[in-house]
Amino acid sequence: MKESKEKKSERALAILNLLKQEYPDSKCSLHYQSTYELLIATILSAQCTDKRVNQVTPGLFKKYPSIEEFAHSDLQELSKDIHSCGYHNQKSRSIQGATLTILNEFDGEVPNSLDDLVSLPGVGRKTANCVLGECFNVPSMVIDTHMVRIMNLLELTHSKDPKKIELGLMDIFPNEEWVKLTHMIIDHGRAICIARRPQCQNCILTHVCPSSLME
Ligand code: SF4
Repeated sequence: MKESKEKKSERALAILNLLKQEYPDSKCSLHYQSTYELLIATILSAQCTDKRVNQVTPGLFKKYPSIEEFAHSDLQELSKDIHSCGYHNQKSRSIQGATLTILNEFDGEVPNSLDDLVSLPGVGRKTANCVLGECFNVPSMVIDTHMVRIMNLLELTHSKDPKKIELGLMDIFPNEEWVKLTHMIIDHGRAICIARRPQCQNCILTHVCPSSLME
């Protein structure tokens, strides 16, 4: 039987409260000191672990200590510097393109709107929402692979399309919790609801999750 919107919202709130108890300290796991550093770290994190990105960025941000340094870098050298994050040619072009556009079109300041952020080369909705939520306190949700998978298991969405998921979840979760929700779901995906082997026996959501493997 299809769950009513009211019931789904009630269950969403119950899930949110359980997650808050379990993961009170959830936060962005990428390390950064400024908005442009987070933008670059997020570009690097595509198809790569945050742990690997955090190993690469301290040296990278030391070598290129400003937006200008990234924008006017040697593309081949930049590509080599970020090699271990994977897709290094594509990512170096994105980093250089995004920083050049910030310099030329936004007076050297990372823009603070979704439309402007996604206009930067190599910056998609996911990266833009991450920067908006972390650096500009704009309520936003980052729909990464954990969010897609776990929100489907929880049947709070029935879509694999990140934008549809984002808009659907915004409708059932309070906006002041959007940023935190993303971080808690990522932590839950890493610790308990692991892809291919969810640990339902240890999950605090088992009684509110239709996909629970527990009786
Ligand atoms: S009950 Fe199982 S499937 Fe549901 S969220 Fe928890 S670990 Fe994932």
